[in-house]
Amino acid sequence: MRCPVCGYEDTKVIETRLSEEGFVVRRRRECPKCGARFTTYERYELGPSMVIKRDGRRERFSRDKILRGVMIACEKRPVPYDEVEKLVDRVILKLQGMGKKEVETTLIGELVLKELRNLDEVAYVRFASVYREFDSIDHFLETISELKEGKGREEER
Ligand SMILES: [Zn+2]
Repeated sequence: MRCPVCGYEDTKVIETRLSEEGFVVRRRRECPKCGARFTTYERYELGPSMVIKRDGRRERFSRDKILRGVMIACEKRPVPYDEVEKLVDRVILKLQGMGKKEVETTLIGELVLKELRNLDEVAYVRFASVYREFDSIDHFLETISELKEGKGREEER
């Protein structure tokens, strides 16, 4: 792995760690030439190949895109980045489990919402407002009441 600072090719691995779920390998590396330290992640390329958008157009499936959406929803919330990454990985594993080559963006959105509900309520509402395209205050209130009902269900478990 090439040093991102000076371009030296023979960087050293100084620490290797496996994520709790065992799906991600995290490596701390050091460049012997300039002393820069950096981290690399190695993960499975999971998930469907394509997503189907609302209007029927297809697009390449992208983990980064889901990650970005969740990060925006979690902005300035007390949610560690690590939790955001794990959330996205859980969503992708679920999609993977469905065994479909193409999935609707609406399905991805619903899976993300289900996870966000347990993580952060404000992020949940933010994500829902973008993804469900709130067009009225009623629609907004509907989502809030869903959140409250869902909470009741979680506690019964
Ligand atoms: Zn270097």
